[in-house]
Amino acid sequence: MAHKTLFTKIIDGEIPAKVVYRDEQIVAIQDINPQAPTHLLVIPVKPLPSLAQAEAGDQALLGALLLAAHRVAEQAGLAAGGYRLVINTGAHAGQTVPHLHVHVLGGRPMAWPPG
Ligand code: AMP
Repeated sequence: MAHKTLFTKIIDGEIPAKVVYRDEQIVAIQDINPQAPTHLLVIPVKPLPSLAQAEAGDQALLGALLLAAHRVAEQAGLAAGGYRLVINTGAHAGQTVPHLHVHVLGGRPMAWPPG
């Protein structure tokens, strides 16, 4: 069987995580090393290595990821104050887990430009 990504192992329950949302296509968890008072990861069940590997056939999934990101932000109480979504893609962005994920960061003011 093909190598499973860290996030696939989490989705399959082989590695524990705090799951805050789950449907057939998407799972959202709490980040293990939070960079803000609220730091969630919204992850497609499909193990796309990064946004760079998404194709036209993934258009609906990418839209669903953004809608899920807003839903979990709202559920976490971030809707009024605002929040930031981040998709690190590749080495210069600092992507460390090769399975597409959207960071949802909130609970404090965010600086711009990011680091
Ligand atoms: P990135 O650097 O964009 O690839 O983000 C990977 C994120 O996954 C980082 O914010 C890590 O803190 C987070 N992470 C790594 N291992 C785990 C884990 N076991 N459970 C939850 N989050 C994790």
